[in-house]
Amino acid sequence: MTDSAVDINGVEKRFGDLVAVRNLDLRIERGEFFSIIGPSGCGKTTTLRMIAGFEEPTAGRISVGGRDMTGVRPYRRPVNTVFQSYALFPHLDVFENVAFGLREAKVAKAEVRTRVDEAVALVQLQGRERARPRQLSGGQQQRVALARALVNRPEVLLLDEPLGALDLKLRTDMQTQLKDLQRSVGVTFCYVTHDQGEAFSMSDRVAVMNHGLLEQVGTPEEIYHRPASSFVADFVGTANRFAGRVESVQADRYSVAIDGVGLRTAGGPAGLTAGTPVLVLVRPENLQLDGVSDEGRADLDARVVDTAFLGAERTVRLQSPRLGELTATARGSGRAPDPESRVRLSWSDDDAWLIPAAGPDAG
Ligand code: ATP
Repeated sequence: MTDSAVDINGVEKRFGDLVAVRNLDLRIERGEFFSIIGPSGCGKTTTLRMIAGFEEPTAGRISVGGRDMTGVRPYRRPVNTVFQSYALFPHLDVFENVAFGLREAKVAKAEVRTRVDEAVALVQLQGRERARPRQLSGGQQQRVALARALVNRPEVLLLDEPLGALDLKLRTDMQTQLKDLQRSVGVTFCYVTHDQGEAFSMSDRVAVMNHGLLEQVGTPEEIYHRPASSFVADFVGTANRFAGRVESVQADRYSVAIDGVGLRTAGGPAGLTAGTPVLVLVRPENLQLDGVSDEGRADLDARVVDTAFLGAERTVRLQSPRLGELTATARGSGRAPDPESRVRLSWSDDDAWLIPAAGPDAG
């Protein structure tokens, strides 16, 4: 037996000349809430459809629960899929929608009742068993779709933008419910979305794809604080970038010469060598702004371009003669710096992260 729920090895998917997924290696552990994120067209739905068996890989192999799925029909795989469109039967009530697959599989009546009751309870729809889909809200219909998938007791539940049709408030509520549900049933979830915030709020680990390629896999914290590429840094948030060059390596820290600023220390991926051109990333919330005194270092001065009040935080756009255009965010109710005022920039070395500047994704 293997501990992985899904193993994807060297998978490629072509549609004619178009390569939708390239050389994909991915391992999803049992009981994980795993998400695949990336922009439209990056190949995430195609990846999910290959796990489900709706598409066969052009090359490579996919295993579910340690079993090779090559040539296995979708309905014979130990997986179920929940789509954005709930695809409920309008003429059947909640109970019969959830029971449908079990009845098709000729499961005994008493067991159908027990399992449907259990699934309906899991998604908190007790008392609504006799309602038709049109009598339910969007969120309730999506919960019926979830119950219908979970009633089959899949090893892996595949979810393709399941909250895409819901308004923001309901989406947020459903994210909490989905996470609770996944924790309570312990089924492996593989969740596809273009919304990084949604993926971060629910997932144990996240995979970021771009142009059919896997850019990075990691916990939300790793992806956010230690992005592997410029693309990942931008896809999951805003990043200030300073161009520079690695000077020397000390254990897991780098000494880096930042153009126009001088030597600083930063974390970075293993294996960068002295002389490597890099970008130093600092997230806006880690850029400190202080008032400017007359003496001191002009290299870290900046001019406030404008500020925007966003409720919980404030965004400050800055222009620095040496570092270019920058963004800082500040939480709390402190006074915003005035436009055109001068501020001094600083950041902690612990909040600076390097990515190699060479390569197609470099910023
Ligand atoms: P979205 O968020 O827009 O759904 P995605 O990341 O899920 O995007 P995919 O649906 O996996 O992307 O598509 C990846 C690429 O493969 C796209 O360029 C798409 O047009 C193409 N593609 C997907 N399915 C097919 C198909 N059946 N035939 C031809 N091309 C396809």
